[in-house]
Amino acid sequence: MSEIIFETLETDTEVKIPEKLIFGRTFTTHIFEMDYDVSLGGWNSPKIKKLESQHMSPAAMVLHYGQAIFEGLKAFKQADGKIAMFRPDKNIERMNNSARRLCMPELDPDLFMEALTELVKIDKKWVPTEPGYSLYIRPLMYAYDPFLGVRPGNNYKFIIMLSPVGPYYPEGFKPVPIMVTDKYVRATAKGVGDCKCAGNYAASLLAQREAQQQGYTQVLWLDAIEQKYIEEVGTMNIFIQFKDEVVTPKLNGSILPGITRLSVIQILKDWGYNITERDVAIDEVVEAYEKGNLMEIFGTGTAAVISSLSKLKYNDTILMFNENEAGELGQKLYKEITDIQYGKKPDSYKWMLSIE
Ligand SMILES: *Cc1c(COP(=O)(O)O)cnc(C)c1O
Repeated sequence: MSEIIFETLETDTEVKIPEKLIFGRTFTTHIFEMDYDVSLGGWNSPKIKKLESQHMSPAAMVLHYGQAIFEGLKAFKQADGKIAMFRPDKNIERMNNSARRLCMPELDPDLFMEALTELVKIDKKWVPTEPGYSLYIRPLMYAYDPFLGVRPGNNYKFIIMLSPVGPYYPEGFKPVPIMVTDKYVRATAKGVGDCKCAGNYAASLLAQREAQQQGYTQVLWLDAIEQKYIEEVGTMNIFIQFKDEVVTPKLNGSILPGITRLSVIQILKDWGYNITERDVAIDEVVEAYEKGNLMEIFGTGTAAVISSLSKLKYNDTILMFNENEAGELGQKLYKEITDIQYGKKPDSYKWMLSIE
């Protein structure tokens, strides 16, 4: 595998990060880009270059048959001034799982890691320093050969782009109202629900829009076969705290295996909680609520880390939680994880990877 070519050698001397950052709107100066060509024997020309628009044919395969996958992770300015990424090895592993499922070429994990590190290094002035801010890292891959037949592409681009982001909840950690849908499903086992592929999100938009029209921020998805078991929320995995057990739906092929989810399970185990990965029916949650055995519900994901629920609507039933303040366990986990991410406490799990 060839070495990374640095087409632009200079880091920016001065960077002006907008004061009000809207998620995913602001991009840094550089990207990493690598090309895949079957006829050239695979991946070639890995380079770091200035961000520019990509030109492609209207026949580019991704536009028709959707071979597109992505990842999402963050880099944080540490208390000691260094910059570190949170569990990038897990994102690399997950991207390759998605690639395999969509017949896309896998990436060399070492080169992927080097690309992440070198790109963040070049654009390190873009890592915000204010509390709660971070640098969001978005790797993506798509097929671009111009061909209208249905088959896996022969040409792919792998790109990593960077975007400085502000705190997910600018006014503080605020619980969100969520609506359960049994009108639509997100994904089925044996399908691509456990891949971060573009089409999954296109398929979820209508349910999301209808929930928003009713005043709910996101949808809680149920299983595709019976619409009975809880799966996940929008772009977050879900945890339910019952009186004597914390439960998260077990990975069944249709749920995205979140890295925040994995981290929360580990922390809860170490804190001595009875944490189980199992099927959990929406009826079980409603019943526990009615009996007073339901403590709190929260979502987990890279963007918000932890998102507490203020309200859960399921047909005519509405479960109410504290509307103004996040649940106790959610707050505790949020503090623990962000303290590790910003280097405010020892990284006993070795989750942080310093770029310098
Ligand atoms: C990315 C994502 C998550 C959360 O995964 P993290 O690795 O924790 O960010 C959960 N569900 C879906 C559908 C996702 O796309």
